Amino acid sequence: MDFAENKTFDLRQGVNIKNKNLSPQDVVIIAIDDASYEYILDNYGEWPLRRDIYAKIIDYLEAQSPKIIAFDLMFVKSMKNDSYADKILADSFQKYSNVYTAMNLDNQEEDLRISQNLPQKLAVNVDGDISPFKFSNCRVILQDIINATSNIGMINVVRSDDGVLRSMPLFLDYQGKYYPQLGLKVAAGAIGNSDVKNFIIKNNKLEFGNKKIPVENDGSVILNWYGTAGTFENIPMYKILKAAKTGTDSGYNFKDKVVYIGATASSLFDIKTVPTDRVFPGVEVQATYVQNLLDGNIIKKNPLWVNILTDLALITVTAIIIMATSYMPAAMGILAVIYGIYIFISYELMAHFNLWIEIVSPLSLAILTLVVSVIAKYLIKSKDFDEQYKLATTDGLTELYNHRYFQEQIRHSVEHAKRYNSEFSLVIIDIDYFKKFNDNYGHQSGDAVLKQISSILKRNVRVTDIVCRYGGEEISIILPNTSNQEAINIAQKLCDIVASKQFKLANGKESGVTISLGVSTYGQTDGTTPEEIISSADKRLYNAKNNGRNRVN
Ligand code: GH3
Ligand code: MG
Ligand code: MG
Repeated sequence: MDFAENKTFDLRQGVNIKNKNLSPQDVVIIAIDDASYEYILDNYGEWPLRRDIYAKIIDYLEAQSPKIIAFDLMFVKSMKNDSYADKILADSFQKYSNVYTAMNLDNQEEDLRISQNLPQKLAVNVDGDISPFKFSNCRVILQDIINATSNIGMINVVRSDDGVLRSMPLFLDYQGKYYPQLGLKVAAGAIGNSDVKNFIIKNNKLEFGNKKIPVENDGSVILNWYGTAGTFENIPMYKILKAAKTGTDSGYNFKDKVVYIGATASSLFDIKTVPTDRVFPGVEVQATYVQNLLDGNIIKKNPLWVNILTDLALITVTAIIIMATSYMPAAMGILAVIYGIYIFISYELMAHFNLWIEIVSPLSLAILTLVVSVIAKYLIKSKDFDEQYKLATTDGLTELYNHRYFQEQIRHSVEHAKRYNSEFSLVIIDIDYFKKFNDNYGHQSGDAVLKQISSILKRNVRVTDIVCRYGGEEISIILPNTSNQEAINIAQKLCDIVASKQFKLANGKESGVTISLGVSTYGQTDGTTPEEIISSADKRLYNAKNNGRNRVN
């Protein structure tokens, strides 16, 4: 989920930078690019450069009054142990209060190097509820530089699980003390707070100059990217080296700029993957970070309760639209438009308000709701249909099939018998002396007996036999695949069962009732049309009545 959400962030960032056409104003980069690397090897014959050469660059730049000069380079112990040159650079840090450099915390084991205390002047106090990333060891830089300046920040970064760098820490935890990221120190220096020692974070917001910067719980900030590598003004370092050597004008303006010096040559720089570019130099990450802080241009995530409300809103809208729209493709179309608008809004909110609203989890929940709603609706509909169908085919009093259904089924049985050359039988049943029964016991008792007879008949035939209320107190049974003799046997069995029963009357008393039954069968004798078969069964029933009732004919 996080992985997919992060990818939507990258897409939003990618689209937004195209729309924004940003050109960051405050920060410029002096890049040790491929050309500069070649120049350095040709002219100085070594890499890393001797430290006094950086001191020359500082002197050259300072003449133009830049706001800050920041090295995204670590001046660890010189390979050549050129302490004279190192001392010259350290003196520059002493001389200019606007020069910054980097140090890196890590978790290296102590058999490589013993972790040591950093001077108190490099640490800061943070008043706020964050838990920064913890480190156990540290790559210390030249002691002379540490002695000369407190403008030293950490260059540790944060990567998401997929390896992409989306945010940067403000503070890092080393031996229980908090140390600022280089970019935070540089940005603080750029707004005139170079010696800031105390930072306040309230409600996940860092008070920074006159801006409030949204901070994540781990003390990092989500960067707002300006573009692919090279969006910042990149000045090849060899041009500055040349100009410094000859004392000529480089043609570049550094006045009031934050000047970052770092490597972009493919063989030198530490490659970062960021939302807008797969290969992005670390120095440009620093530049982005500082420019973001100066502009108050940091991305903010919604608090949990807003995410929950968004989820609920999308779920509700989805369910309502599916349930309320009778034509399913229309419902799908409307929802597609709504989801589209939601995604569009998420882009706009990031572009104009630096707000990162979640896309993946609300839309996943909405689509899940969509599927569940469609299934629920289908089930309700089919249950509804079943009920309607039952109502349309069933008799209310006896719960047998009604006359209309009987007519349908006998026609269907005739078709079936014709096509498959099979046979079926029909039994028509009429209760004996029922008029008298009503007169004696009342209509209600008559109804009760009719119901009981119906249920007896149903229980004593096969499930495939179709028992219908044919008329007032007349019941018909279609017996599929049943010969005339079988049908007569069944009819006789039914006649005997009814005659043997006592029926409960409305007044609680009991009484016996008999039935007469007429049987006919599809075929030569009784006919091959529904009318003929019915009329034949009717005639037999009439005969049964005439022959004394309570019998089969
Ligand atoms: P028989 O069939 O034996 O010749 O005599 P009978 O009195 O039953 O005569 P017939 O079948 O013609 O009478 C139908 C009577 O059945 C009329 C009516 O009083 C009664 N009856 C029909 N439908 C219902 C019903 O739904 N409920 C009740 N209680 N009586 C009904
Ligand atoms: Mg009758
Ligand atoms: Mg009758």
